Order: sequence, then structure tokens, then C-alpha cells
Amino acid sequence: MKCIILLASPGAGKGTASDYIENKYNYKHISSGSLLRNEALKNKEIKSLIDNGKFVSDELVMDVLNKNIKKDNIILDGIPRNIKQAKLLDSLFEENNINLEKVIFIDIDREIAAKRVINRLTCEDCKKVYNKDLIDSKVCMICGGNLITREDDTKEVFEKRYDTYLKETKPLVDYYKDKLIRIYNDDTLESLYNNLDKEMR
Ligand SMILES: [Zn+2]
Repeated sequence: MKCIILLASPGAGKGTASDYIENKYNYKHISSGSLLRNEALKNKEIKSLIDNGKFVSDELVMDVLNKNIKKDNIILDGIPRNIKQAKLLDSLFEENNINLEKVIFIDIDREIAAKRVINRLTCEDCKKVYNKDLIDSKVCMICGGNLITREDDTKEVFEKRYDTYLKETKPLVDYYKDKLIRIYNDDTLESLYNNLDKEMR
């Protein structure tokens, strides 16, 4: 089994890049958010942590991940989120005979990332994300659901998340320096895809 880790700041387009690699290169996309939300459906402890906005411990995140890796190649998005998780992940890879192929770091200018997050519209139903500047419609082009601004897509929440990222997650760039590939996402979606293709070939 092979694994790609995606590292990125808030608003850098991690979800978009993961989806692209999942569909084109046949990796299973595992995001920390969806992993925990799915687990919460059958695990009361996690459900109560999430419902109360509490922190899910690094060990618990790894346990859940361990249960959800089988034989597919995977792309991890949002895990690891700090050095401690990275070390736990090293052991998990070893136990499961998983080869960490590469770590893709999506880099973006902080101001551009802030602007993207604040301009985001999200479909209430299918969760597809649009940019306010690029869409006239008030409904989703895919499913017809209402487009809304998510409560946490504000400048304040972004700045707070970005500071946490600098403190907790950015040090991983150095931790993984031997496997790291840096891709800039300051430009168009097409150029992001092109850059990913170059690294995936
Ligand atoms: Zn939709």
C-alpha cells in the first residue's frame, strides 16, 4: 500500500487537490473531518466530542485511521496535523506496511488564502464550494441546493486557524523535508491541476 500526505494552510485548496488525485490517480481520499464524522455515527465517545466542539486526541484520531485503512492506496488530508500525529503515523505505517510515497505541500500566499475563504459559497446539500466572484447563481449547478456562506468562513476564523496552522502544522514541512514536494496554488485551478499532474506522473 502507498500513501500520499497532503499538507497545506487553511484556504490553500487541500480538499480540491485531494479530490483531483483521488479521481485521476485512484487513491482513496481520507480527510480528518470526514473520517471523524463517519466514525461518530457508530462511536458515542467521538460523537459527543464532536457535538460539544471538543478536541479529539491524537491517539484517538490514529485509532480511527487505523480501522479505516485496508488495501487501497490512500491520500491523507488533515492528518497529521502536528508533529505528535506525524510520529504516531510513522508507527502506523510501519505496522501496516504502508509506503509513504511523498508529501505534497500546497503553498499559498496568506492574503490570497484569506480572500478565497471569505469569498467561499458552499452548497447546503452536496457541499460543493463556489467562489462568489465567479458565480451569478444562488443555487448549486450540480444539485440545485441553496448556496450559503458557512458560519466559519470569516476573516476572524481564518486568522485564528492560520495562526494555529503556523504553530502546529507548518513544522511538518521540515519534518518531512526528504519527501516533500512544494506546489504553489496562487494561480488558477487549471495550473494547480497541471502542477499536480507533473508530480504524479
Ligand atoms: Zn449542490
